[in-house]
Amino acid sequence: MEIHEMVEIEDCPLCEGPAYLEEENGNSMYIMCYECGCHSISTTFKTPEQKLDAAQRVAKLWNSGKVIKPTPGE
Ligand SMILES: [Zn+2]
Repeated sequence: MEIHEMVEIEDCPLCEGPAYLEEENGNSMYIMCYECGCHSISTTFKTPEQKLDAAQRVAKLWNSGKVIKPTPGE
């Protein structure tokens, strides 16, 4: 089962755009909105088990509205 199917991610809390789970450098996960560019913090992981845990943690933050707004001009 894909990790994307195991983690519930709500639409962007800022613009209600579609949000995606992203993997960075093979060792951290974060969620990003492609509509307005805001994102969650990233959480690092080392094993496949930790990867799912990391994904669920960022999803929980994202779903509760804890997002980082994009820097203007970037
Ligand atoms: Zn957004």
